[in-house]
Amino acid sequence: MQPIKLGRMTVHKVHEMDSPTPLLAQLPGVTAGDLARLKGWYRPDDGELTDDPATSHMTFGIHSFVIEVDGQTIMVDTCCGNHKNRGLPEVHQLDTDYLGNLARAGFAPADIDLVMCTHLHFDHVGWNTRLDNGKWVPTFPNAKYLFGQRDYDYFLGNPAGEDFHNEAFLDSIVPVMDAGQGILVDEDHVAHRQIGDGVWLEAAFGHSPGCCTVHGQAGGEAAIFWGDVIHHPVQMIRYDLPFAFDADPAAASLTRQRVMNKAVDEDLLCFPAHFRLNSVGKVRADGDAFRYDWVAE
Ligand SMILES: [Zn+2]
Repeated sequence: MQPIKLGRMTVHKVHEMDSPTPLLAQLPGVTAGDLARLKGWYRPDDGELTDDPATSHMTFGIHSFVIEVDGQTIMVDTCCGNHKNRGLPEVHQLDTDYLGNLARAGFAPADIDLVMCTHLHFDHVGWNTRLDNGKWVPTFPNAKYLFGQRDYDYFLGNPAGEDFHNEAFLDSIVPVMDAGQGILVDEDHVAHRQIGDGVWLEAAFGHSPGCCTVHGQAGGEAAIFWGDVIHHPVQMIRYDLPFAFDADPAAASLTRQRVMNKAVDEDLLCFPAHFRLNSVGKVRADGDAFRYDWVAE
């Protein structure tokens, strides 16, 4: 993605990996009718989506966004990370060129002033730390890391059925706290504020207990960094459908609808965490649902 300039704010995308998976494994309940409607405005043209949900796939794009604003460099979400033991084969012991992609975007780890995690799932916190002589240390030595209090309290309790995220808590959150670089914040925390604009969190609970969106505006168009409010464009049509890994599917669906409506009403430029290839765009109302207009990256 080319950097996107929004007033005093510039947004960069740093890619980590793409992870393909059967569509119905992630979004059970998608129908052939939903896919037919999706094809009206979504044409990836690579055979991922067929007319039949049972033979369709989706690919998770996994990336960070880096915001430059008023002399601060803020990273939103930190992907999966390298060399981490995970019970999920797709992300076990990764060795990606994420830090090379960060460098090609123009940043060294030491340049990052602030890390904001939308929530504490393994694919949003992984590069918080890197392996150094057998020890997990903060990847971004000069950064403060903001973690939402609710997710922190939840994963501190090693909850049942959350194995991959519990693993990530131990190797990607605890070492940051031990290093004194982690700050626990409320889910409406303001990270940066100038008169009339800034960068801040808003609660978007459901996918995880303390899931947030990140908002940014600095003398230009307003942006929303969606985190995991939505995973695939078909959820614009079926915002009511649960995603397989929503902690509270009913709450996540309500949050998705509310956030989509807000994006329409406020004409927000949207930065989704998991749309692959081109991801940035604007939500439009479309009858009883929504559609997405992509912005060229
Ligand atoms: Zn995610």
